[in-house]
Amino acid sequence: MNIEDYQCQFCGKTAKHFVFAAFTCDDDVCIEKARLERGGPGGHLKKKAQGQPIVPLDRE
Ligand SMILES: [Zn+2]
Repeated sequence: MNIEDYQCQFCGKTAKHFVFAAFTCDDDVCIEKARLERGGPGGHLKKKAQGQPIVPLDRE
């Protein structure tokens, strides 16, 4: 699969990534849209994206 044969699903530029089941360009905004459109990451992916530890530290 050649990603650059595809277009960003959000702005129409040449796709650079296939993330969260969507083609996106290099723009963080589009990548974030893909992430949200996917329904949002459950737990650990979201924490990872925010630079937080994956291991839940607030577990009761
Ligand atoms: Zn884009």
